[in-house]
Amino acid sequence: MNRDPSCIFCRIVAGEIPSRKAYEDDELLAFHDIAPWAPVHVLVIPKEHVASFYDVTEGHTPMLGRIMALAPRLMRENGVTGGFRTLVNTGPDGRQEVPHLHVHVMGGPRPWAKG
Ligand code: AMP
Ligand code: ZN
Repeated sequence: MNRDPSCIFCRIVAGEIPSRKAYEDDELLAFHDIAPWAPVHVLVIPKEHVASFYDVTEGHTPMLGRIMALAPRLMRENGVTGGFRTLVNTGPDGRQEVPHLHVHVMGGPRPWAKG
């Protein structure tokens, strides 16, 4: 599996940096954001290093579909019933801070810290 040893999310996948996991399988990992915008704020990532949405190709279609299918399940499992937001930041103008593809899934009652 493609991995970047200097990438913080690859290091989370490898267990070198701790995270509060929400879901894991062979291909995907979901964990709670360390600085949540909302009462429930989960990041869903492919375990393989994909730097950003710009790097997504046709071959990634099943992985992306699985991330999207996982989002509502994660929200329900974490007690979110009133709606949620789903966000992908891409590149510097998209305010992407961590260069490993991740989908933010945020929900829970308002007010939120951000967003
Ligand atoms: P982005 O701006 O889309 O790249 O978002 C990166 C997100 O990763 C931010 O919401 C950070 O709070 C979150 N983050 C950074 N480091 C960690 C970490 N070690 N564990 C969990 N979330 C993290
Ligand atoms: Zn990575």
